[in-house]
Amino acid sequence: MIPLSDFHTHSTWCDGKNTLREMVDAALEKGLYAFGFSGHSPMVSDCEWCIADEKLENYFRDATALKEEYKDKINVLVGLELDVFSPIPSQKFDYLISSVHYIKKDGAMLPIDLSQKQTISDVEKYYGGDYYAYTRDYFELVSACADRVDGVIVGHFDLVTKFNEGDVLFDTTDERYLTQGYAAIDKLLEKNVIFEVNTGAMSRGYRTEPYPSIMFLRYIKEKGGRVILSGDCHNASAICHAFDLAYEHIKKAGLEETEKYPILRV
Ligand SMILES: [Zn+2]
Ligand SMILES: [Zn+2]
Repeated sequence: MIPLSDFHTHSTWCDGKNTLREMVDAALEKGLYAFGFSGHSPMVSDCEWCIADEKLENYFRDATALKEEYKDKINVLVGLELDVFSPIPSQKFDYLISSVHYIKKDGAMLPIDLSQKQTISDVEKYYGGDYYAYTRDYFELVSACADRVDGVIVGHFDLVTKFNEGDVLFDTTDERYLTQGYAAIDKLLEKNVIFEVNTGAMSRGYRTEPYPSIMFLRYIKEKGGRVILSGDCHNASAICHAFDLAYEHIKKAGLEETEKYPILRV
């Protein structure tokens, strides 16, 4: 088995089920060599699954205290999952994950990963049923992450496929779709990024394969990109969920090596 770490994790500070301490204790029990906290950053608008703006400093302080307390047992890093619509934090987080959870369209915020029903209704209402116009807007936002911060982990690169298992809504091998994703990868690779291979939707039963798809992983490999495995876990039992399958997935794309740590912010 590959050495285990997980840097995409949530706690009761945002929408996770376990406290920071319970998460790091579970990581120790599973024998991880390193572990990272990555709570959802505050959003500009009200967001019930994010850390509230006024609580961000407390999250940073508590996570940093645990990092210090556990330093002889496990390498703990203090990170944040930054949404493209979130302000850049003033705290010195060890690393950032950059993710897109919403598309802004005609003044509305369309959630990408809420439910299949919501996605179908949004694409119908705002895109006249054109999924490739929807995914184009999504990947443009993913690219825009590159203009905001360097040195991030790119979170769940093709989250837009969460409710598209078996290509029930749109064809992920369609040239229009692939071209959008490849362009986003090109742009992100101009910055110093690592792509995560994320099993979060597998642990929650939405998908049978990790993000990104094999097609996108192959392109990342071809362009010399780097990857790291992530559980995107919202409870302690999902830490490193299905990493054996995720590792097989990256090998199919010709990738062997995974990064051991995120790019640290200096
Ligand atoms: Zn996310
Ligand atoms: Zn997450």
